[in-house]
Amino acid sequence: MTILKQQTSALHAGYEKDSQRTMAVPIYQTTAYEFRDVEHAANLFSLKELGNIYTRLMNPTTDVFEKRFAALEGGEAAIAAASGMSAIFFAIANCAEAGDNIICASQLYGGTLTQTQHTLKRFGIEARFFDVHKPAEIEALVDEKTKCIFFESLTNPSIDVADISAITAIAKKHKIITIVDNTVATPILCQPFEYGVDVTVHSASKYTTGQGLAIGGILVERKGLLEVLKGNPRYPQFNEPDASYHGLVYVDVPLPVFTLRIRLSLLRDIGAVVSPFNSWLFIQGMEHLSLRMKEHSANALAIAQFLESHPKVLKVNYPGLKSNSNYASAQKYFKNGMSSGLLSFEVADMETAEKIVNATELYSLVVNIGDSKSIITHPASTTHQQLSSEELIKCGVPAGLIRISAGLEDKDDLIDDIKQALESI
Ligand SMILES: *Cc1c(COP(=O)(O)O)cnc(C)c1O
Repeated sequence: MTILKQQTSALHAGYEKDSQRTMAVPIYQTTAYEFRDVEHAANLFSLKELGNIYTRLMNPTTDVFEKRFAALEGGEAAIAAASGMSAIFFAIANCAEAGDNIICASQLYGGTLTQTQHTLKRFGIEARFFDVHKPAEIEALVDEKTKCIFFESLTNPSIDVADISAITAIAKKHKIITIVDNTVATPILCQPFEYGVDVTVHSASKYTTGQGLAIGGILVERKGLLEVLKGNPRYPQFNEPDASYHGLVYVDVPLPVFTLRIRLSLLRDIGAVVSPFNSWLFIQGMEHLSLRMKEHSANALAIAQFLESHPKVLKVNYPGLKSNSNYASAQKYFKNGMSSGLLSFEVADMETAEKIVNATELYSLVVNIGDSKSIITHPASTTHQQLSSEELIKCGVPAGLIRISAGLEDKDDLIDDIKQALESI
């Protein structure tokens, strides 16, 4: 079949009906799968044949989620994980080992900051940081132990848009893998592979489920990633025999090897696997992801425009505003003028921010984004509480910053509520 348009893939990709011919993708709620005989079992374990073994490694419902998401993102293959954080861990741990370093944008999701700065450090992997607006800083951080460059296409919570092409150009020069967290932009707004990115990761817990229903993550590998890995001295783990998989040399396997190595080693040994039921929820969410992203983007823009005109608001961060320093990048990298549902605004100080958050009625005080219900968050007292005031400024999260994830309610109600909250203090 010809390559389908994105919205058609969102409804059909990766699902071949079985003998029951169910319209909805079935939930294969099972731990394991029966082998035909001993030879079949041995063939599956030695990769002579591909097939189901155990749900920690693969599952037919999750397989549809993976294939469909890969199609949506324009990639070759995907692998699902138990959460966005585990997908990020798998992506980095597939490149870097003790003694290596990774280069990350400073403007990152709070969990990713702590994972890279603290947890990976304890595993012997050093994270070096660059300002996402100054890709040239990367050059001075690269050495022969650098294994990947990690950044977010649309950053959470600082809401900056990365100059993706500028970053991938530097990565290509040094033959380093780029990993992009595309959670906030979603495949609907942004297709990072078009700009030379190698691997994308997502928290499926956000826009993919869309209604705040489940935790999950997914990682996608671009077509032709093998060219970067094969014979590249940075990546011996793909070029030398894997002792934990009877001497398998990944670059010699005719399959998308980045995701294959995660499945065969990291998913096998770490076990942060998504449940079949959650995969099924993500499949439902993908069907209308493009419709929702249009509405999330329109509502966020309307709220941002209102806030921009309000005297108590010092600054509004939304890449869809012409006044925003990220506007040009958003126009370049995001489709159809959409800028997603995330915006933030700054008020005088921590205390004022807390009062405004408490005074809203329609917005729920929740540390999540991408729900159909609107959410308000005060990062300095929650997701970024562990950071010092210096670190807060560095990652673009001042104490008076309030973040909003615009839901799918009527925009007039959303504006009225934020207006009454601002005026009640
Ligand atoms: C939420 C989020 C994550 C973490 O995902 P979980 O599914 O909560 O583990 C990672 N990156 C970004 C940008 C996020 O918004």
